[in-house]
Amino acid sequence: MSNKSLVRHTINQIISPPAAAPVAKPPVNPPQEKPTFVDRKLVCPGCGSEWIWKAEEQRFYADKGINIPKWCVSCRNSRRKYFMAHPTMDRNKK
Ligand SMILES: [Zn+2]
Repeated sequence: MSNKSLVRHTINQIISPPAAAPVAKPPVNPPQEKPTFVDRKLVCPGCGSEWIWKAEEQRFYADKGINIPKWCVSCRNSRRKYFMAHPTMDRNKK
């Protein structure tokens, strides 16, 4: 028995790469990440005026799951008053 072969065997074991090294995966974004909101400029189909849909209002709408408002605040208020005065009217009818 020579000591040389034993030494070589040990070195081979040390320098050989470990089998199936675990690959570090990049972190996946959380699926329920909330989108960031910015103020948006919308054009009201009722009066044609531009109005700013505030970021915090968008967050409120997203939390409630309400559709994006198209109408400016004053038109929405007048529509609300109108539909409250006429509760039998179909809101979705154009
Ligand atoms: Zn309007």
